[in-house]
Amino acid sequence: MRDRTTRVVAISAAVLLSASAAAAQTDQAITVTRPGSQPSSVGPANNFTGSVRVDARFQASAPARVSGGIVTFEPGARTAWHTHPLGQTLIVTAGVGLVQAWGGPMQEIRPGDVVWIPPGIKHWHGATRGNGMTHVALAESLDGRTVEWMEHVSDEQYRH
Ligand code: MN
Repeated sequence: MRDRTTRVVAISAAVLLSASAAAAQTDQAITVTRPGSQPSSVGPANNFTGSVRVDARFQASAPARVSGGIVTFEPGARTAWHTHPLGQTLIVTAGVGLVQAWGGPMQEIRPGDVVWIPPGIKHWHGATRGNGMTHVALAESLDGRTVEWMEHVSDEQYRH
């Protein structure tokens, strides 16, 4: 009886070990991406006004479809107007920023604020005139796209 139990435990352990070895060789393994492993990228002038830096860009493997990064806006910098087909979540981590939907009020956002932008809502986000702002941005892709870019936010629209 005791022998049988021991054997079952040993077999179970062997199965678990081989399963974990297999996981390590596929994209089922947990991935830790270290700071410095990819260079910062610059928010392109077509889609942003001012100085914008993107770090820690990530893209989940299918069937997951979330991607994002950490976006830092210098004072006065902002996105162009845009929409996200499946919406977007912003988590503010530093500074003072702004977010606005088309036709809606400009809202100040600060560290700890979590912003949900519903699918298809035309909006922009960025820093205030006097302060930079950093947020984590997360969005899911639909047909391979996470964003539809539109016109820039003019100085007149940005002034408030
Ligand atoms: Mn957005």
